Amino acid sequence: MASLKRVSGLDQHITRRDFVNGVAIGFGAVLLGGAATGHAQQAALVPAVSPGEDWYGYGGVGDYRLSHGNTPQAMAEAHRIRDGIVSSGLAEPVSTEEYDLVIIGGGMAGLGAALEYIKQRREGQSCLLLDNHPIFGGESKENEFNVNGTRLIAPQGANGFFIPGEVSDMESASGDSRYYAELEIPRELEYRDWPAHRKPLRFCQDNYGYLVRGLQENTSVGHFFSDSNEGVWANDMWRQKLANTPLDAGVRQSLLDWYGAGSNIHFVSDEQARKWLDTMSYKEFLEREQGMGAEGAKYADLFLASSCGLGSDVISAYAAYQLPMPGLNDPPSPAMKRNSFPGGNSGYARYFVKKLIPQAIAGEDNFEDIITGRINFNALDRPGQPIRIRLDSTAVSVSHSGNPADSERVEIVYRRGGKQHRLWAKGVIMATGGWINRYIVKDLPEAHATALGKFRHAPFLVANVALTNWQFLYKLGITAAIWDRAEGDFGYTCNIRNPMQVGAYQPPLDPDQPTVLSFYTPFYYPGLPIEQQVILGRAELFTTSYADYEEQIIRQMIKLFGAAGFDPLRDVAGIILNRWGHAYSVPYPGFYGGAGDDPAPRDIIRQGYGRIAFGHSELDGLQHWGGAADEGRRAYSQVKDAMLSS
Ligand SMILES: Cc1cc2nc3c(=O)[nH]c(=O)nc-3n(C[C@H](O)[C@H](O)[C@H](O)COP(=O)(O)OP(=O)(O)OC[C@H]3O[C@@H](n4cnc5c(N)ncnc54)[C@H](O)[C@@H]3O)c2cc1C
Repeated sequence: MASLKRVSGLDQHITRRDFVNGVAIGFGAVLLGGAATGHAQQAALVPAVSPGEDWYGYGGVGDYRLSHGNTPQAMAEAHRIRDGIVSSGLAEPVSTEEYDLVIIGGGMAGLGAALEYIKQRREGQSCLLLDNHPIFGGESKENEFNVNGTRLIAPQGANGFFIPGEVSDMESASGDSRYYAELEIPRELEYRDWPAHRKPLRFCQDNYGYLVRGLQENTSVGHFFSDSNEGVWANDMWRQKLANTPLDAGVRQSLLDWYGAGSNIHFVSDEQARKWLDTMSYKEFLEREQGMGAEGAKYADLFLASSCGLGSDVISAYAAYQLPMPGLNDPPSPAMKRNSFPGGNSGYARYFVKKLIPQAIAGEDNFEDIITGRINFNALDRPGQPIRIRLDSTAVSVSHSGNPADSERVEIVYRRGGKQHRLWAKGVIMATGGWINRYIVKDLPEAHATALGKFRHAPFLVANVALTNWQFLYKLGITAAIWDRAEGDFGYTCNIRNPMQVGAYQPPLDPDQPTVLSFYTPFYYPGLPIEQQVILGRAELFTTSYADYEEQIIRQMIKLFGAAGFDPLRDVAGIILNRWGHAYSVPYPGFYGGAGDDPAPRDIIRQGYGRIAFGHSELDGLQHWGGAADEGRRAYSQVKDAMLSS
């Protein structure tokens, strides 16, 4: 159980406005002048932090306890790379190995590349996958709690999905449907029945559905409006057509116009939609092109910032078009059900790894064992196996030996346990994002370097709060909460899931029993330029200690749920913070190429060069598990031939 030692000192705290102002003053003219675009400037603006126990905090139990969000070690290494303190030339490597293929990054993209390699590899070919965290999965990992003997698993980041359609031709299939079929993941998934003697409540099965227009009504959602007294709750406000909210009539009408707006524009092709919509933000689309009030764009921020990193003021209307956003799409059918494995998309990562190295997860090749079995770390990196996975290993330098056009191999230098190691590979896949690639890929062509400089990455925080019981939510008649964020508040939304049941893993669904309340928390500052928003967000995420977040979360829960009987000392069993410094590549207007005919930055990166290919979900625009694996698969097809030559 995490300590709640700070909770008694709830009389003093720094507000968010204090923080933003403080950071802005600290960063001085660069930030305020809006000129923070260059790498050096960005680097200078990210505050120096020395993460330690006070920063990282409690990690739960089980295999993932030492790896929740970015670890202090991975973060410190990355900052040393950025600041030029670590480079390949600093020390003589303590070991040298040769592989046909090296994949850098063990998230869904790297695992997608690895899966394709395993299927296509020729006899004798070898591959090493490096990741800088203590466990594979990237943003698709899980937390585990033990609350009074009850095992509870929750997502660290990526977590929800619709079951994709069946596949008739695997070769031409792509994305979610391809991998779901290929990995033979069950299509019948089990959830808990809500006890018949309890008053009716509706549950989301993931941590997103309750924010999606249309699907939201499948969940008992309470909207909390701060006021000078205790604040007021409006339950199921969209079902009630906002009649139960304290909003004035004009605001209500404006929100209802937005919420009810369907697919208002017909495009003859996706290309036509892209060329027009990628020239404006979703907010501009709503206000300028649709004549709507500002309220819809503000409400849309909740979902957009949770799935793309920032809000409607800087998200391309084309990205919104690809999501089910009002004015561009009709709402999804309420019959569509979101799903989430116990650890969210960690389930997919585990399926991929089981295919790559069958002994990596204890037990048989079946759903229950893959999802809930223990990881056999010793099996990951054994000599002689077709693919090895090496964790806690940070690539610091990647470059061709000689001219990329006719080079015969690539040198990779990585750090592990404070020592430098060298690898030689015939082909390399960078399944890592542009924020690190720009520093470690040393012989980038100019066009690639320029393109990488155009990506903007937003941070994210997933705080999982293990509860001994959730009577306070039951009393309120809700399973998800959204609040109108007021000065000094923490977060925007939280919910409990109806937990998936997997074999012997049978988490309860009863207000007297334990559960996990998840706060999916973006950092967005509407109205500021995108560069400033992502820098402020990272500063806020990285400079707040575990104890301060713990206090902010408990304080917020008291504000929301105190009147319904929430007691932190009795009800909270532990809090895990999962901090993602570069969670999302933000699809801003122009990300997809805008109106022009020049290739979009992502398409330049997709071309690769020499023996190096790039595959990461950031290239997709909307980061998604199947799309990430597809990027890795495409990158593999680009280096496959290079692996045959020497
Ligand atoms: C909060 C949150 C919620 C999300 N929800 C969903 C969802 O519901 N559904 C969905 O499909 N997607 C969701 N996503 C998107 C998710 O990002 C993608 O689905 C996917 O997991 C990303 O995989 P990736 O391999 O592209 O990147 P990553 O997961 O970022 O993997 C890259 C890996 O490379 C490692 N690495 C970086 N630098 C180095 C280095 N120098 N050396 C070695 N290793 C390095 C990283 O630490 C990481 O492990 C969510 C993302 C976040 C942050």
